Amino acid sequence: MATASVLVLLEPAEGGLSPMNLELLGAGRALADQLGGELLALLAGEGVAKLVDDAGAYGADRVVVMDDPRLRTYVGDVFVTAVEQAVRQLSPTVVLIGHTASGRELAPRLAARLEAGLTTDCTALRVQDGVVVMTKPVYGGNAIAEYTHSTTPQLATLRPRAFDPAQRQEGRQARVETLAPSIDEAQVKTRLLETVQAAPTGGPRLRDAKIVVSGGRGLGGPENWHYVEELAEALGAAVGATRAVTDAGWVPPSLQVGLTGVTITPDLYITVGISGAVQHIAGVTGAKNIVAINRDPDANIFRHARFGVVGDYKQILPALTAKIRELRGS
Ligand SMILES: Cc1cc2nc3c(=O)[nH]c(=O)nc-3n(C[C@H](O)[C@H](O)[C@H](O)COP(=O)(O)OP(=O)(O)OC[C@H]3O[C@@H](n4cnc5c(N)ncnc54)[C@H](O)[C@@H]3O)c2cc1C
Repeated sequence: MATASVLVLLEPAEGGLSPMNLELLGAGRALADQLGGELLALLAGEGVAKLVDDAGAYGADRVVVMDDPRLRTYVGDVFVTAVEQAVRQLSPTVVLIGHTASGRELAPRLAARLEAGLTTDCTALRVQDGVVVMTKPVYGGNAIAEYTHSTTPQLATLRPRAFDPAQRQEGRQARVETLAPSIDEAQVKTRLLETVQAAPTGGPRLRDAKIVVSGGRGLGGPENWHYVEELAEALGAAVGATRAVTDAGWVPPSLQVGLTGVTITPDLYITVGISGAVQHIAGVTGAKNIVAINRDPDANIFRHARFGVVGDYKQILPALTAKIRELRGS
């Protein structure tokens, strides 16, 4: 039987490996060790060779470089072809991909081409009796499911911030290989016409933030949104919203947290005027501490909250914001 190996697909980031890259390397290293196999890291992009040393220092045994100008920015048709070729050539047992905007698109397409089993949005991985067990929340986060696959390879996308990032080991080096993708331009049906940067919010990015303050319909209208922004600013937090709020156009859709929005895993999640619908909760099951402010003591959000404040946010938030500013000396 061929030796087991784990391949992680690193999405090259400006200036180095991204937090998601390090989590992929951390999870991949742990899995490869449990399987008694090697960890391979695939660097597909343009000018990615500069990340080879880092990938080795963070745990990869072999780094496979696919350096090609056509891989400069993510285009699904191009990437899925390139990564498929790499996977077929390297024959890994498991392929791990970030559950990012591009990873979410790439993984199912890749799995279909390889006729491979795929678990998306994994929050844990382990090996039991030689079989890889992939864990993910299901039913809007109300249950945890475990999956195993009988295919080789088997694929998983990993939820951001659900896995410990790899630690740097100075002097650790990987073997380096290069692969040239063969891309038939006639097969590329997607063209990237324009990249639009989201307007800067001034605070941390919602997806990566350690503290998030979200507002819901209970705020009453967009004229009251400043209550949420002021608390977030005092805490150095990112701002999020429910779909009720984004659908109403109070804030941009990019702030929507939940099943059909962003999945977040902050250390502290403060909800203001949010009922705690199952679709909202689905995006916050990885939050370590939820603090809910709602005037309805029976609101579902209190079932998920570690601390709850029952009352009118218009009385609670100004006092809370002022106290936090005082404590932080800002
Ligand atoms: C397929 C599908 C996907 C969906 N995806 C998402 C998703 O990704 N994210 C998401 O958020 N929703 C999603 N939804 C919508 C979801 O079902 C809920 O409708 C939505 O989350 C409710 O938003 P809310 O909590 O802001 O509003 P509400 O449910 O109306 O709750 C408002 C809360 O504010 C409280 N309140 C009112 N006034 C005050 C006050 N003065 N002070 C304090 N509290 C007050 C009320 O007691 C109430 O609990 C989805 C729905 C469907 C069908």
